[in-house]
Amino acid sequence: DTESVHQVDVVIIGAGQAGLAAGFYLNRLRRDARTGRIPAAPSFVLLDAEETPGGSWQHYWPSLELFSPAQFSSLSGYQMPINQGPNNPGKDHVVEYLTTYEQRYALPIERPVTVTRVDPDEHAFVVHTDRGRWRCCWVISATGSWNLPFVPDVPGRETFEGTQVHTHDYAGPEPYADQQVVVVGGANSGAQIAADVLPHAANVDWATLREPVYLPDHVDGRALFQIASRRVRALAAGDEEPVSVGSLGDIIVVPSVKAARDAGDLVSRRMFVELTPAGPRWPDGSVSHADAIIWCTGFKHDLRHVSGLAGLGGGEDDAPRTQSPLLTASVDHPGLYFLGYGDWCGPASAPLIGVGTWARDTVAAIAAEFASGADSEF
Ligand code: FAD
Repeated sequence: DTESVHQVDVVIIGAGQAGLAAGFYLNRLRRDARTGRIPAAPSFVLLDAEETPGGSWQHYWPSLELFSPAQFSSLSGYQMPINQGPNNPGKDHVVEYLTTYEQRYALPIERPVTVTRVDPDEHAFVVHTDRGRWRCCWVISATGSWNLPFVPDVPGRETFEGTQVHTHDYAGPEPYADQQVVVVGGANSGAQIAADVLPHAANVDWATLREPVYLPDHVDGRALFQIASRRVRALAAGDEEPVSVGSLGDIIVVPSVKAARDAGDLVSRRMFVELTPAGPRWPDGSVSHADAIIWCTGFKHDLRHVSGLAGLGGGEDDAPRTQSPLLTASVDHPGLYFLGYGDWCGPASAPLIGVGTWARDTVAAIAAEFASGADSEF
């Protein structure tokens, strides 16, 4: 194989918010090297499968609103601009923000480039893509979860004669006008999409495994971040089981959910036991007609590109094993980091406001190794 191999110190896979957060700190090291504050800084590149900036935010449904105001939804260095109107920003506002962010810091992003595989290579990695290969000493995997929708294995699913979509493909309520709709899932996307469809559909059955638990109305993304931050500090201090967000409730009461719930329209029923060609069979044995099922049943972290590395998996929920307290660092592959997927690689690392801390600490660890000279080949 004579194809040329690019050489770089750090490859960041994915240029959604997590990739950009890591890019910000690597960029700052480059600036410090240029101005003589440090002798040298690692080179880096971000490889992103999208055609355009914004990561998965470009694909969310049109009415989606952030959990928190703009001031509490920012990455490091540059505040998200305040949006117009009384509500929290919508998803297009985030896409604009991330677009400006990557331009502002002139982050070295290659797009569209899909990473297909990461192989270990002596003290380094070879990152295989649909546009060539990159050899590097450090990999920050920041591919998110959007590309791996999860649908539970409900009996009869393939026999259902209506339409089935996952949150991943939900593009707004219009196709469901006057239809009998079943929304499945008792977390945020289930509540928000049920509220979104309710005014348009003839009927919405909201099917959940258990009675959904709303967070207190005043608890938004800000409060959740504070709770998660306390958890990070407690874990670092070795304290026992600090309170987790999940123990407080499942659903953030955003304005659309609040309106539907307070009107008495957002009523859940226990999950159906199977799907028949006509619709769901409920626990009491009755079958209802449905035109469409919307599966709001979540995502799995998308680690397919590193699945070939031996020794991955084994952590909670089949996540890779990571170190403590730097929860982004792979135990099995020194030099490999996981950023932004959720609690297993850092409490509060998934939301915009939380990922910066983990990006900073990850880049600091890489910078320390780089400065020690052990791996600075390129
Ligand atoms: P992504 O945004 O998914 O970006 C990953 C990038 O990697 C993408 O550009 C993708 O194309 C690319 N990629 C994937 N695989 C490859 C590959 N093999 N090779 C190359 N590139 C690849 N967070 C908040 O802070 N506030 C909110 O209000 C909020 N609301 C949300 C509502 C919903 C419905 C959802 C689903 C999430 C919400 N989140 C919110 C969470 C937040 O959107 C996600 O956690 C966040 O987008 C994850 O960022 P990321 O950079 O890790 O992944």
